[in-house]
Amino acid sequence: VSVRLVGGADLKRLVARVGAAEFMRQLIAELAAAYARWDEFEKMARPATHVPGGVIELMPISDATRYAFKYVNGHPRNPEQGYATVVAIGMLTDATNGYPLLVSEMTVLTALRTAGTSALAARHLARRPSRTMALIGTGAQAEFQALAFQVECGVTTVRAYDTDPAALAKFARHGRTLGLGVVVCGSVAEAVTGADIITTATAAKARARILTDALVAPGVHINGIGGDCPGKTELEAAILSRAKVVVEFTPQSLIEGEVQQTGAAAIHAELHELVRGLKPGRERADEVTVFDSVGFALEDYAALMLVQRLATQYGIGQATDLIPDLADPKDLWSALH
Ligand code: NAD
Repeated sequence: VSVRLVGGADLKRLVARVGAAEFMRQLIAELAAAYARWDEFEKMARPATHVPGGVIELMPISDATRYAFKYVNGHPRNPEQGYATVVAIGMLTDATNGYPLLVSEMTVLTALRTAGTSALAARHLARRPSRTMALIGTGAQAEFQALAFQVECGVTTVRAYDTDPAALAKFARHGRTLGLGVVVCGSVAEAVTGADIITTATAAKARARILTDALVAPGVHINGIGGDCPGKTELEAAILSRAKVVVEFTPQSLIEGEVQQTGAAAIHAELHELVRGLKPGRERADEVTVFDSVGFALEDYAALMLVQRLATQYGIGQATDLIPDLADPKDLWSALH
C-alpha cells in the first residue's frame, strides 16, 4: 500500500511550482474552509511532554474521513547549538480505515500554516488598510509571517526588531526580496511606532514582556505567536484586559496561550466564531485586537490536505511501502516470508 512521502526537497518543488504567494493564498483559503467546518472535527488540547530545554507535542484531529497529526517540538535554546527551535513531521490518514495517505515534512509547513492562520485572524481583526507591520523576533517564522500579511492585508512595510543582529540582517535581506520595505529598528518601541499590526515571534521559555501595554496604540492588531506553552508568554497582561482577544481552541489556549495569564474571562471569541460570523471581529477603528496564537491541530490538517491535493496534482513526492501489501489481511506473517 503506497503512502506518499513529501520531504523537504519535495515541498520546496511544490511551493516553487505554485509560487509562494499563491501557495499562501490557497493555504489561507484551506484554513478558512477548515475553520468554517469546526463542528465536524473531533478536537483535543495537544498533549505536551516537557523535556529538558523545551517541549515535544503531538497534535491530533479528525473529521469523518481524514485523521491528521503532527509531531512538533519547541526548544528555544536550540539555535545556540546550531539546531532550529521548531521542527515537525506530519501525517494524514484515511479515517475510515486508518490507512496512512501522506507523511510530510512539517517544519517549513508549520511556518507556512502558522503565518496563514495569523493572516486569517487578521482578516477579521486588523483595521483596513494595514500597510505597516512591526515584527518583533526575526527568527525562523519571520519571513513566513511577512509573506502572509503581504498576501492577506497588503502589508508593504515591516519594521523589524530582534535582539540578535544577525537574525535581523537575515530578515532584512529576505524581506526585501519579497518586495517589502524593511525598516531595521533598534528597539521594540521603535519598531511599533506607526504600525497597524504588531507580530511578536520571539522564543524564550519565560513569562516575557516583549510588548508592554504602554507601547500599544489605539487601533492596533497584535498577532502574538511566540507565547505558546505553559510559562511562555510575550504580552503584558494589561494588554489582554483592554483588548478584544481571539484564540484558536479555548481548552488548549488557556494552558498555553497569553490567556494563561488572565483566564477565560479575557477571551472574546475562538477563531472559528469569527470565520463563521457567529461573533464580530473588529468593530471600531480604535479598538485593540489580539490574536493569541498557539497553533492548533486543525491548521496542520488544513496544510496537509492542501499538500496532499497539490502533490497529487503535480506528481510530487515519493511512493513508500510504509504499510504492508497483504493478499490475505490476516496473513501478516507473509510480509516477512
Ligand atoms: P527562532 O528561535 O528561530 O526565532 C526567535 C527569535 O526571537 C530569535 O531570533 C531571537 O533572537 C528573538 N528574540 C528572543 N528574545 C527576544 C526579545 N526579547 N526581543 C526581540 N527578539 C527576541 O524561533 P521561531 O521558529 O521563529 O519561533 C518563534 C516563536 O514562535 C517561538 O516561540 C515558537 O515556539 C513560536 N511558534 C508558534 C507557533 C504557533 O502556531 N503559534 C508556530 C511556530 C512557532
